[in-house]
Amino acid sequence: MHGWIGRILRIDLGTGKVSTEALKPELARDYIGARGLGTKYMYDEVDPMVDPLSPANKLIFASGPMTGTFAPSAGRYDVVTKGPLTGTIAASNSGGAWGPELKYAGYDMLILEGRAEKPVYLWIQDEKVEIRDAAHLWGKDVPETTEALNAETAADAKIACIGPAGENLSFIAAIMNDMQRAAGRTGVGAVMGSKNLKAVVVRGTGAVTVADKDAFLAAVAKASTMIKEHPVGGTGLRLYGTNVLVNILNSVGGLPTANFQDGHYPTADKVGGETLAANQLQRPKGCFSCIISCGRATKVTNPKYKGEGEGPEYETAWGFGPDCLIDDLDAVLKANYYCNEYGIDTISMGGTVACAMELFHRGVITLEDTEGLELDFGNAEAMVEAVRLTGLGQGFGRKLALGSYRLASLYGHPELSMTVKKQEMPAYDPRAVQGIGLNYATNNRGGCHVRGYSISPEVLGVPFKVDKDTIDGKAELVALFQNLTAALDSTGSCLFTTFGIGAPEFAELMTSLTGFAYTGESFVEAGERVWNLERLWNLKSGLTAADDTLPPRLLKEPIVTGASKGAVSRLPEMLPLYYGVRGWDADGVPTKEKLSALALA
Ligand code: SF4
Repeated sequence: MHGWIGRILRIDLGTGKVSTEALKPELARDYIGARGLGTKYMYDEVDPMVDPLSPANKLIFASGPMTGTFAPSAGRYDVVTKGPLTGTIAASNSGGAWGPELKYAGYDMLILEGRAEKPVYLWIQDEKVEIRDAAHLWGKDVPETTEALNAETAADAKIACIGPAGENLSFIAAIMNDMQRAAGRTGVGAVMGSKNLKAVVVRGTGAVTVADKDAFLAAVAKASTMIKEHPVGGTGLRLYGTNVLVNILNSVGGLPTANFQDGHYPTADKVGGETLAANQLQRPKGCFSCIISCGRATKVTNPKYKGEGEGPEYETAWGFGPDCLIDDLDAVLKANYYCNEYGIDTISMGGTVACAMELFHRGVITLEDTEGLELDFGNAEAMVEAVRLTGLGQGFGRKLALGSYRLASLYGHPELSMTVKKQEMPAYDPRAVQGIGLNYATNNRGGCHVRGYSISPEVLGVPFKVDKDTIDGKAELVALFQNLTAALDSTGSCLFTTFGIGAPEFAELMTSLTGFAYTGESFVEAGERVWNLERLWNLKSGLTAADDTLPPRLLKEPIVTGASKGAVSRLPEMLPLYYGVRGWDADGVPTKEKLSALALA
């Protein structure tokens, strides 16, 4: 095979059995890799009703055919499992250099089964696979773990690991790789913790072969030029990172504020990408083979929040900033650093703190509940401390570690959790931008922006401009973006390459790389297949159309101030149209005809 290595590594952590197996070429062609292929294996091998934290759940690290090649921004992989936060199929995507290293070691995917009796880590060097004792690492944070493992394995080995949050089975725990990159969403870190697996260390000496080298080189050159010439992919993201969006979303009245009570924050600029670039930014940073470099290497010298690391992304700055009514960027960065060090998803952490602040503000929880923490809106010090306690599983942090839905439910107010399918929504207000609300509500892993980023046309005008306030055409738009993203995620390339290239360019890259003939249409159809398979899994796990919704606040309470004042989400009007576009019945179940057309029947 070309692009794919053609081999899967399977490890039963319960018995210690290590085996390899061939990847079936037709599965690779139809599900591509990473998110798609991982989901196919989950669907075929795991009961969707499985308890996510039981040994029967599997944890799949899956690269894509482009991962590790010199295609632009092709350093990504997915962690696929049943997510404990959402109960849905989860594919949590991460960059860095870990994914390429797995392929160089000779594997497209690593499938982990069972549960180790005691803490272990995996040391994979090409053919040599060891399950090693990790007792000395348990309790260590991500930097400590990474440094210790590089010292005892190889200095240039790539490491994916959990921090204390994953060990404590926090529902919002991430898996961190290359120290600062996160497979963050849906609580995949807790699944790793439940398997007593502290880390996967990889070192490979192999390579990825290409079907048609000249054609691939030409396709890479063309794609790279298109990205470099794009104002967002080529310039904007490198200069200001994703955090440039703070001011943009605020200007259109779509910056959720105070736990989504409003859509505008007067001092938002203080936590925006331009302010970061002028103060804490050390340099832009890129993942493997990235020509965009949206990553931010940052440093805080303010003694109160002193630290160094990477971030924040826009969603992180928003979550610890405007959503908590905080405009202290140093505090936001410190919270981000804690998340990276303890292994927590920043979006869910920010959303959970904001929810706790509203509970506190309304008097639902008191100082007694928070164990003395004045967790009210605007209290930056309390926000940072709440993140630290969550990471370590201490004090009120034990409850925050459950995520906002379970936290708010504990106190009788689930409606104050700004979640979809129990996962915290990111930084775009569905009342101000209609399509993103439909995307959140129908997303296969709950509140998520990156699997149907309609913000691109609705706010940024890329690749074309559509009216953010209308619901006309949004069902088609959202379904198309969801399908395209499912295909793109499955290649091992970064979503941000779409600020420059689209399905036709991906088809050229995939065809020349793998030797299978893809067109723009068949590429997007592969994404539609993945989307429908994820939907089937979720339906089998007990989710229904009733879960395709938004928090009541967004459907009933209008935005109070700013450019979108008075807006509410019109989801109930869009949802039936969306089901129709998808070829699903009125209950959101894919029809036989649709499944047959996608070879899923
Ligand atoms: S664009 Fe950003 S997230 Fe994507 S691969 Fe490059 S640095 Fe990583």
